[in-house]
Amino acid sequence: MLAIRMGVLPRHGMPIHAVLRALTRVKEGLPHHLLHIIAGSMTTVPHPLALEAFRMFHLYNANDLEMFSELRRLEEEAVAMMGEILRCDRGCTGMITSGGSEANIAALYLAREHSLKRVYVAPTAHDSVLKAAKILSLEVVKVGITKGYTIDVNDLEKRCRERGPGLIVATMGTTGFGTIDPIKDIDEVARRYGCLIHVDAAFGGFVAPLLYSEPLCFELPTVISATIDPHKLGQVPIPAGGLIVRSREWFEPLVFEAKYMPASKQIGLLGTRTGGSIAATWAMLKHMGYEGYKKQAEELMDRTRSLLTLLRQYGFTPAAEPRVPIICIELKNDEYVIKSLASKGVYLYRCGLVPGVRIVVMPHVSVDVLRKVVEALVDVAKGLRV
Ligand code: PLP
Repeated sequence: MLAIRMGVLPRHGMPIHAVLRALTRVKEGLPHHLLHIIAGSMTTVPHPLALEAFRMFHLYNANDLEMFSELRRLEEEAVAMMGEILRCDRGCTGMITSGGSEANIAALYLAREHSLKRVYVAPTAHDSVLKAAKILSLEVVKVGITKGYTIDVNDLEKRCRERGPGLIVATMGTTGFGTIDPIKDIDEVARRYGCLIHVDAAFGGFVAPLLYSEPLCFELPTVISATIDPHKLGQVPIPAGGLIVRSREWFEPLVFEAKYMPASKQIGLLGTRTGGSIAATWAMLKHMGYEGYKKQAEELMDRTRSLLTLLRQYGFTPAAEPRVPIICIELKNDEYVIKSLASKGVYLYRCGLVPGVRIVVMPHVSVDVLRKVVEALVDVAKGLRV
């Protein structure tokens, strides 16, 4: 017999029940959205319809564009529906990705392939934007922000004047503060200096365009692409992100040669892509419709406003006035606060850019959950407030 040193791989396979028991033990040790208080993450409990749609299609490879061409049709329709939310009434295309990071990497890659090798990024942009710029060797021009944690348009203009055309990343729903960059003003700067805009609406895409009438996305001529994530507020299981692109011509560099595949091509950064994410996204968009997601957005913002009032009553100050359901409370020693909260079964994240804790009001984060978050915060944060 071949002399192989065995470590964690069993030489003879374990019976199914033993494997499942081992996994159950691992699962039991993990915080659960409905059993604990997970109010810092952007994940939520997926809708049962989305889980069913995922199960129905998970084994089909969406990147076999010939055998499973129907999946591409569903994907195009899901993309068109999200495009409509982002105010692209015609011509948009794109793809379902594994999440916001992949969508952002793909968006910056498209810009580079269309000769925009410079990217304007604010510190409030999600880390995946700098990750993308690094992977793609793009020049990064750092842009200042205002006291309200949105892009400082005057600073952006100055930098665009100095450095010239590039892709500006604007965020609709910043990860740390729940703010929205002034996208209409950014569009004016972009027009003056030959820039285009990628809107990162990974979180805010299922909220802001449904609540606010100001121009926010594809109705602005320099917005060329956008990220919107079904696995955040779309109630779709992980992995599901969305990249929406203004035209087929802009999307073209994401169609790659794949010599061995029946269609001789594949779409996007991955090879095999599960049809489950596409089906789940399509199903939820059809089920919720515009009004369904709008109602969800209204409810979450109502809860966010009540939470702000409650937090203020206890003397906590939000770092910024949120426009999507994310609140950053500035607190010294945030790492200690987060660890202490976790020991009480309350899970929050850090704001990132400033010391403080972030609360994300996801669909499973009920009023009752929020009350418990505030009680735990009051308890832990005594004496730590900024
Ligand atoms: N963009 C924004 C604004 C985000 O908030 C996030 C995640 O928090 C991402 C992109 C990355 O998304 P994902 O974690 O799905 O890759």
